Amino acid sequence: MPIPVLLYHQIDIPPRHRQPFRSMTVHPKRFRSQMAWLKRLGYQGLSLRDALPYLYGGKQGKVAVITFDDGFENVFRTALPILQEFGFTATNYFVVNQLGGYNQWDQKIGVPRASCMSIAEMREWAELGHEVGSHTLDHVHLPQQSEADATMQIRESRERLEDILGQEVISFAYPYGGENASLRKIVAEAGYRNATTTEKRRATSSDDPFGIPRLTVRRNDSWLQFLHKLLMR
Ligand SMILES: [Zn+2]
Repeated sequence: MPIPVLLYHQIDIPPRHRQPFRSMTVHPKRFRSQMAWLKRLGYQGLSLRDALPYLYGGKQGKVAVITFDDGFENVFRTALPILQEFGFTATNYFVVNQLGGYNQWDQKIGVPRASCMSIAEMREWAELGHEVGSHTLDHVHLPQQSEADATMQIRESRERLEDILGQEVISFAYPYGGENASLRKIVAEAGYRNATTTEKRRATSSDDPFGIPRLTVRRNDSWLQFLHKLLMR
């Protein structure tokens, strides 16, 4: 059975005014209602790490994967208590040089400043059973980097996260969904076991583990659009 891998960015009260990428901020109430829909439909919400046995190991069960890009502090504040309430786990992909910082990479396109989780918050996220994945050191567009720089962004971010957490980091997300065959190879050789893209469909066991598709949930998605993503895409 295909598995929906949901992609969120920020969970917060969305900015009032028209701003670039405002659709990437989902209201906490809407996020809670989406988690309630998952539960009602019999899905277990899981991190990618926890879902791998279902995706590639032949384990049976109705599973939806919950992922967040960029490690935003508002996810820690608003989404984490909701995940705990439903007994779900999730993956967050962190930008290692911005732990305790903000979305510097977004500033040139006019996205409002938003804080990233601190090291202490990321540790708490991990201690509660949620997954820490890597989203590079600086949120770079990898296909535009030299091979040496891309390799450093991929390798060093994993090593630094593992040093901070004292546990293995196996999941990676390509910033901006930017990837190709040679980047997938670098990610695999760096010791990760999977990587997610932004290709928009559900995941199946025939997908390359270093090119797992995801379904972006947007601010204005109605419950019907949400269900459509879960069941049809
Ligand atoms: Zn990102």
